[in-house]
Amino acid sequence: MMLLPCPHCGPRNSSEFRYVGEGTARPDPGTATIGVWRDYLYTRSNPAGWTTENWFHRAGCRRYFTVERHTVSNAVRASHRPAAQARTTSDPEGLSAGTERGPDAGPG
Ligand SMILES: [Zn+2]
Repeated sequence: MMLLPCPHCGPRNSSEFRYVGEGTARPDPGTATIGVWRDYLYTRSNPAGWTTENWFHRAGCRRYFTVERHTVSNAVRASHRPAAQARTTSDPEGLSAGTERGPDAGPG
């Protein structure tokens, strides 16, 4: 069993979560080339070490968050809300972060 610390709910069994992918910055659509988009969409670094990953708490708060996890030992050293959600001018504390629906949410 692997425990993942949700920043909203606390430590939970990893079976409650869905792995979303590596934390990568989205390229600027105005300047990115086809090669940059291809790398963003399909190339993964898959390191044996510390990675920054995005996870979705599908059986809990239904929010996205970011985890720094060691891929060999599954040790977690940090867990936090995504930076884009955590800091906005109208919500400086990020209190409304993660209120959107998840990838496995049904229609409506
Ligand atoms: Zn949660």
